[in-house]
Amino acid sequence: METSKNYSDETKSVHAGIKDNENLAVIPPIYQTSTFKFKNAEHGAAVFKGEEPGYIYTRMGNPTVEALEDAVASLENGHKGLACSSGMAAINTVFSAYLNSGDHIICSETVYGPTTALLNDVYSGFGIETTFVDIASLEDINSAVKPNTKMIYIETPGNPTLVVADLAACSEIARKIGAILVVDNTFMSPILQKPFKFGADIIIHSMTKFLNGHADVVAGMIIAKSEEDYKLLRKTLNLVGGFLAPMEAFLVHRGIKTLSVRMEIHCRNAMKIAEYLENHQKVKKTIYLGLKSHPQHELCKKQMKYFGGMISFELKGGIESGKKLMNGVKLCQLAVSLGGVESLIQHPASMTHAIMSKEDRLKAQITDGLVRISVGIENVDEIIADIDQALKMI
Ligand SMILES: *Cc1c(COP(=O)(O)O)cnc(C)c1O
Repeated sequence: METSKNYSDETKSVHAGIKDNENLAVIPPIYQTSTFKFKNAEHGAAVFKGEEPGYIYTRMGNPTVEALEDAVASLENGHKGLACSSGMAAINTVFSAYLNSGDHIICSETVYGPTTALLNDVYSGFGIETTFVDIASLEDINSAVKPNTKMIYIETPGNPTLVVADLAACSEIARKIGAILVVDNTFMSPILQKPFKFGADIIIHSMTKFLNGHADVVAGMIIAKSEEDYKLLRKTLNLVGGFLAPMEAFLVHRGIKTLSVRMEIHCRNAMKIAEYLENHQKVKKTIYLGLKSHPQHELCKKQMKYFGGMISFELKGGIESGKKLMNGVKLCQLAVSLGGVESLIQHPASMTHAIMSKEDRLKAQITDGLVRISVGIENVDEIIADIDQALKMI
């Protein structure tokens, strides 16, 4: 199908990236091959020079992977996509492509933990300096600017506090200082938030989460807005090597067919669960972008279609209550990650962030009673009943 920009997201989810193939199979074959033949020496030379279309070697491009790249680029209204072996491979490829020794990057303090560690433990060794900022504060971002600032890197909403960056304002700052704005759009998916519309230069996804949606693949994607960015990123990805395998690409592409319907149900379920939690006497605070009590609810309405599938809430009882809740749920699964069809629940203070000191946790606004849910697409009353019976045990 012609994946024209004029189609809606619902139609693009089903059809984007899929091209007619030799046998007219509705679902194109999986090109499970590492390398491709040339018809003759002249053909080989022409493909290498880019004078004729064709494939050479799967790390450099593969039709199954390209179909997925086209699909996500189309959903993000971007120029072209670059599929990577993980979200981290996508982030690393973008950093390697744009940052050089002596450069400075402004990064949100609430980005995915390994992104922070990549900057602190790897890129700092290459002479790249990072300032971490509160992305909800434009003053904080502005005052972090240095003459050598090359990139503003944000993830919005941030995890697990669901702090939101004003995309248009961040892109204005980036433009003013001659830096690029990179947005990790994993938590929203292209269905809920379109960062290019607000001036982002590059978008990143961990497709492990909502895009694939079935908790069975690890994969990432970079979306470029211009051919110039695409060429630089493609060259870098070829060299650093984090390319996605064809089988994984096929699975993610299959997952995307239901992306728009899944997102709708994730959001609808999350809204109902957030309202339930907000009125529960054992819950001190419920953080959900769709609640009027979220301090940035108005900004969310401006830059998102709906409010996503992620909820954080704080139990009155602290760390012991968190553990009891984890041990009490039956339907919600105790696991990290997010964005799958199944509801996942986790308690950062006793699980993902248990190795951090309490002081550092509190600095990151991870209180002892904080719980995060990635709301799945199960029957919402049954999810609520599960949480309800577990809260009774506290
Ligand atoms: C999971 C995640 C990543 C990393 O993706 P992987 O596929 O696990 O490498 C990056 N950013 C966000 C927001 C994530 O949730």
